Amino acid sequence: MSKDYDIVIVGGGMVGASMACALAHGELRIAVVEAHPLRSHNQPSFDARAIALAEGSRRIFQGLGLWPGLADGVTPIERIHISDRGHFGITHLDCREEGVPALGYVVENRVLGQALASALARYANIHLLCPARLHDLKPAESHIRLHIEQQGERREIRARLLIAADGANSRARELLGLQARHWEYGQTAVISTVQAEADHRRIAYERFTDSGPLALLPLSDKRCSLVYTVRDQQVDELLGLDDETFLQRLQQRFGYRLGRFLRTAPCHAYPLRLMRLPQVVAPRAVVIGNAAHALHPVAGQGFNLGIRDVAMLAERLLDAHRQGRDLGEPALLQDYQDSRRADYRRAFAFTDGLARLFSNPLPPLRLARSQGLLLTDLLPPVKHRLARQAMGLAGRLPRLARGLPL
Ligand SMILES: Cc1cc2nc3c(=O)[nH]c(=O)nc-3n(C[C@H](O)[C@H](O)[C@H](O)COP(=O)(O)OP(=O)(O)OC[C@H]3O[C@@H](n4cnc5c(N)ncnc54)[C@H](O)[C@@H]3O)c2cc1C
Repeated sequence: MSKDYDIVIVGGGMVGASMACALAHGELRIAVVEAHPLRSHNQPSFDARAIALAEGSRRIFQGLGLWPGLADGVTPIERIHISDRGHFGITHLDCREEGVPALGYVVENRVLGQALASALARYANIHLLCPARLHDLKPAESHIRLHIEQQGERREIRARLLIAADGANSRARELLGLQARHWEYGQTAVISTVQAEADHRRIAYERFTDSGPLALLPLSDKRCSLVYTVRDQQVDELLGLDDETFLQRLQQRFGYRLGRFLRTAPCHAYPLRLMRLPQVVAPRAVVIGNAAHALHPVAGQGFNLGIRDVAMLAERLLDAHRQGRDLGEPALLQDYQDSRRADYRRAFAFTDGLARLFSNPLPPLRLARSQGLLLTDLLPPVKHRLARQAMGLAGRLPRLARGLPL
């Protein structure tokens, strides 16, 4: 016997769980198929990282009623300080110049995971199948059939629509036959949480170095979340360092703006690649979040792009449901895909452009980017555009990001 739902979301990580919470506002029957228990330590989405949530993403969480459960666990970013190691160019973004209380908010993934897990449990129309894995799928005329494995047993579920949010190595994407295009950066992000002597004063630092960008995001108790990008061949050596030598290495790269670095938590490595899909929809299916796009973490855009997928897709699906339309209708899915193209293009151009420009050692380019940073600092309209992109407020926004209800 197969069980029927309106929508099945495969992947209950940051994007999939947010998607379920957004759709729960309608009267839809929703299943979330997630491979790892949401509160477990090996949950790959809610791991030791912290992410910078843009102001636009805060508005989306606010509209979904999730912000009150998160607000105590986030640290506002009031300024962003951008510099190029060994060169003169520096620029600052400041929330006061943009007329907002904060440019963004840093949240530890585990904190976000707890808030989303609690929210999912509150909705009677969300059925969490976990731990469970997608194994196979078959689209048909009026529904899509999914084969999942739960507690060692295979079972079948059916839905009008599949939303694939199962991350960069998406099994759903593969089964749907959607081809991904990949570009390797040859860089790996090493992340940790570090403690410095001086208070970060709610400033986020983005420092470009010859091996890749280095970011320090403000956390509570003078802690900072570190994203230290290095070339792939440097990773093993960096991960093998004892804490003291690691902190000395970090100090050389970052300088003394936060005084001496005193402590570090264990490091974790994430190889970096750009991945995009020419098509994010297939018969009775749509792919969102990291299953649809993977970006360089410079400028913290990945999840922010994914949560805008969530807001835009929820808006389209709930409108269609109110109008009594079929949620898997090809025109509806095509319309969603078209609505996301410009945002994807901007996010790819922004992050990929920064990652490549600032990793290029050619002297004329180094000079041009130092001048570029300086000019950005001096030209308010240029700075304002950079800030809007960083805050997730550029281009055509979903209703939730404009402060409107779903
Ligand atoms: C170092 C680093 C720093 C970053 N910093 C930022 C930042 O500051 N700001 C920002 O916006 N973004 C940032 N990102 C990007 C952000 O982490 C991703 O965009 C986000 O994790 C994507 O979430 P997701 O839910 O789409 O995918 P994932 O987090 O990969 O979650 C996928 C989920 O699907 C489940 N799953 C997988 N396969 C199956 C299956 N077959 N069946 C059932 N379930 C399955 C997994 O268990 C997991 O829970 C950063 C990324 C990195 C690597």
